[in-house]
Amino acid sequence: MSEKQVVEADLNFDPFNCCGNEALYPFKCSQCGWPMVFCYECDTLYNNLHDLSQNDQEINHFKPDHPGFSCPKCNYKFEYYFMQNPLYWVSIKDWVDAGFEHLLRKNST
Ligand SMILES: [Zn+2]
Ligand SMILES: [Zn+2]
Repeated sequence: MSEKQVVEADLNFDPFNCCGNEALYPFKCSQCGWPMVFCYECDTLYNNLHDLSQNDQEINHFKPDHPGFSCPKCNYKFEYYFMQNPLYWVSIKDWVDAGFEHLLRKNST
């Protein structure tokens, strides 16, 4: 099993519908491993990949010196610039093990 990380190009964009111009960043919580997807085009957080309609969590996108948001599972505080932190990368294996293979393009695994 490879330790390749899930990147934007691996995602199946079809189930994600926020702004119509989705730019999706897959990541996980470094504390509890909960996988999530962030649309950095419109600042939408898909914090429950079992139900993509749950995407209305408040995100701080104005104050870089404050946390961006917290993990819905363990309340871990993600820093404002979390997208630059490799700590939150999620491997294909962990992603699939979490049950989200259907959110990947067919040829990614
Ligand atoms: Zn969007
Ligand atoms: Zn967490």
